[in-house]
Amino acid sequence: MSTTSQRRRVSMPTIAWIGLGLMGNPMSKHLINAGFSVNGFDIDPVAAKRAEDNGVKVAASLAEAAADADIVYSMLPSGTDVYQVMTAPDGIFASVRPGTMILDCSTVGIAYAKKLHEAAAKAGVVFVEAPVSGGTEGARDATLTFMIGCDKHYADLAKERLEPLGDYIAYVGGPGAGQAAKVVNNLIMAVSVTVNCEATALGQRLGLDMKEFFEIAIRSSADNWSFRLWNPAPGVVAEAPSSHGYKAGFKTWLLAKDLSLAVEAGRDVGARLDTAETAYLLMTEHAKSGGADMDATSLVLHLAEQAKAAKAA
Ligand code: NAD
Repeated sequence: MSTTSQRRRVSMPTIAWIGLGLMGNPMSKHLINAGFSVNGFDIDPVAAKRAEDNGVKVAASLAEAAADADIVYSMLPSGTDVYQVMTAPDGIFASVRPGTMILDCSTVGIAYAKKLHEAAAKAGVVFVEAPVSGGTEGARDATLTFMIGCDKHYADLAKERLEPLGDYIAYVGGPGAGQAAKVVNNLIMAVSVTVNCEATALGQRLGLDMKEFFEIAIRSSADNWSFRLWNPAPGVVAEAPSSHGYKAGFKTWLLAKDLSLAVEAGRDVGARLDTAETAYLLMTEHAKSGGADMDATSLVLHLAEQAKAAKAA
């Protein structure tokens, strides 16, 4: 006779996880550790292999990953990627059983979220937008903050399904509401990262000891979350991307994407976002000059080079 724990294991839902990158890889690992069977898919074989090493069963296609899934999670770069993955003829919406819940944790912006909810309703599946904050550190430690946008009827089930991955799971409202919270949050974060880079480049040019300055700043009015976690000066915070050759972390092009989502949202509702527009220009300039896949704090290198060139001219 089977024991209760064996019966529970037998009835554990099967998961499909789409997008096994810097965030999706550690997040899907928590579900493996919680005892779920996870079928994963990523177009990048290196990302897929890393996930396979964690116990993810790597599928050859989206349709294969989705075929047996009771729940689908996705963690993809942008709205265009998510829309394509979900709505392609051989994509997720067409491949899952009717009524399956799909939790998309990507940052896609308000307009894409609404389009995805509409397409899901037509396809007869349940779409939940569940963007996250907390960075790769939060993904690694399962301490992410989730911002849910969906039909209220599904809010409790969605929360339950995100519990193994985070420590604050908020239902914000209907379609687009989760992304609205995420866009506003990341406006603050991305502008902070940008100004942290500007301040660091200035401090370095002024000859400050940036380690000593860090100790001052975290006890002063300059203190902020990304300055502590993702300090742009190498050697100041041991775990920060800057201390590891600016390996992402949070890629510059993804931060620029988040700023563009805020700028678009501001335009839609007539809100002035001058600092976000400037931060967007700087991050885009840095991405175009070779920094796109580096951590966003590598903007400090771009600014330092410019300062050097300006002084030499
Ligand atoms: P990433 O580039 O490391 O990972 C994205 C993965 O998706 C990649 O492995 C890529 O190969 C895969 N992918 C792209 N198109 C695909 C497709 N059609 N089918 C299957 N896989 C596909 O990016 P990330 O840092 O993991 O970010 C993912 C999302 O999370 C983004 O929306 C980002 O804005 C958001 N986010 C990132 C952070 C962070 O700190 N990195 C924090 C919060 C939110």
